[in-house]
Amino acid sequence: MNTFQGISASGGIAKGKAFVLPVYTRKSIEKIPLEPGTAASDWERFEKARQKTLEYFQSLIDQTNSRQAAIFQTYVLMLSDPDFLGQLKKEHAEQSVCAEWIVENKAKEYADMLRSSGDSYLIERAEDILDVYGKVIDNLMGDVQVSCESVPEGAILAARFLSPSDAVFLSKRKLTAVILDKGAANSHLAILARTYGIPLVFGIHDIESLIRTEDVLIVDGSNGMIFVNPDEKTSAEYDKKIAGEAAEREKLAAFSAKAARTKDGIAVKIYANIGSAEEARLALEEGADGIGLFRTEFLFMQSGLISEERQFEEYRSVLEIMKDKPVVIRTLDAGGDKIVDIPGVSFEEEKNPLLGCRAIRLCLKMPDIFKTQFRALFRASVYGSLKIMLPLITDIEQVREAKALIEEVKAELKAEHIPFKEDVPVGIMIETPAAAIMADELAKEAAFFSIGSNDLTQYGLCVDRENAQTAGLFNELHPAIRRLIVQTAKAAQKEEIPLSVCGEMAADKARMLVLMSAGINSFSVSPKKIASLKECLSHFTAEQIEALKDWTESPMDAHSLQEKLNAFLSGTHLNGAQ
Ligand code: PEP
Ligand code: MG
Repeated sequence: MNTFQGISASGGIAKGKAFVLPVYTRKSIEKIPLEPGTAASDWERFEKARQKTLEYFQSLIDQTNSRQAAIFQTYVLMLSDPDFLGQLKKEHAEQSVCAEWIVENKAKEYADMLRSSGDSYLIERAEDILDVYGKVIDNLMGDVQVSCESVPEGAILAARFLSPSDAVFLSKRKLTAVILDKGAANSHLAILARTYGIPLVFGIHDIESLIRTEDVLIVDGSNGMIFVNPDEKTSAEYDKKIAGEAAEREKLAAFSAKAARTKDGIAVKIYANIGSAEEARLALEEGADGIGLFRTEFLFMQSGLISEERQFEEYRSVLEIMKDKPVVIRTLDAGGDKIVDIPGVSFEEEKNPLLGCRAIRLCLKMPDIFKTQFRALFRASVYGSLKIMLPLITDIEQVREAKALIEEVKAELKAEHIPFKEDVPVGIMIETPAAAIMADELAKEAAFFSIGSNDLTQYGLCVDRENAQTAGLFNELHPAIRRLIVQTAKAAQKEEIPLSVCGEMAADKARMLVLMSAGINSFSVSPKKIASLKECLSHFTAEQIEALKDWTESPMDAHSLQEKLNAFLSGTHLNGAQ
């Protein structure tokens, strides 16, 4: 048995057979002169390969959500560009050499031209051209590239890295787990894996020499451990854990369709956090009351600054999927750990990016970006029950400035006779100590609050939420964070504005109860967590939960409180109502 420690990007435990995706290198292409009279049939060969590639990308458009579909639509356009095809045909006829050579050289030439433009959007398109016409060359050469299509269902996929189109493909295939050399917790693949509950571990270097296809693997997504051909003891231990997880999932499935209620029937709202329109479907399946946080930066992290039209399509999709259920869409929260390619902005140059020009600060500094997003949001507003949320507020002026831009956008839309809803509520995230302390004032300007416990804890305790060295210090139950939350809840109650919590704190049963004891009864969590929270709620009466208030409001340290909560959870579960 070999064991490897990777970095977990999606939890859960899986056991199964490995499928190792070999690193693919295209054979070098020779410049082969055409035999006299064969130019037409060689061009025909190219046409067939192009057609096959077109069909491949078209099939991906049909299977994917609108955001990904837009990427593949661009690929299809590239494959059908009459100018480029005309140039290829001309060179093919003039040079009289095989189509592979012409395609490779013309695509490289075109890509070099785009790269030298200095425009980040065009530079990215250069990679797309090489990718798209590379696939045409593979089809021309009849190359048997081992692609994601050959990954058997149920396999544990081990690969050096995966491209965006591979990631889409894999989300359709029922994979048991994914292990990668290169990856990132915020990558599109990681988000998909978490959404669909597939364990994902990355950071396993030299993966192809460590793992072979058909090896038996155990992937522990909770701690990033990989066991290759596990011994009997490890295998038996994990079989038990996997059976436990399966039994738990089955028990929880019954709660998806039920409304969230305490044991004595008090209603609680549980919304979903999503990063794309497609995830809204999953949120519905998992029984969400609506969308409590749509992190729109994930759209931008994939493709840089996306157009108003593409944003509009994505927001409209979510609203249509959710019908009359509320949908909170958060404006671009770029910066910090969420890097978006914006021309003229270099996040890397900031000494303290988490304290730098990110989120609302960036958007107010670049009002064109902000206004484009507001236009897309207001245009989509007529398709459902939209609420707009502003991230990382530290100052009431930021809310006022954003609202002024919204008024400008509304006036523009009106002048253009574009329909929109006038009364879209504009709320804010309470995720900085400044916002929590000033919540009473902010509540007069904001239509609603949503507590971002991840950043509130990060900034409140001065602990980088991504730093493994200080992970032990990151604790939402710290009395200082509890105090900020209680203060925020009181301010929201006083001004009678809705309050929710959309940070990870809400997804933990004990912490959700602590939040409820502060008077909060609306939460937004990852779709896969919804059922377990509903199940937890069903064990407690409102009175029992309210009784936790004394602990919540006390200066008790986080660890002592955690112990008391553990005892509370298990005691009440075991003994029924007390
Ligand atoms: C938060 O900070 O708690 C939050 C929900 O926002 P994000 O995790 O996207 O920063
Ligand atoms: Mg945040």
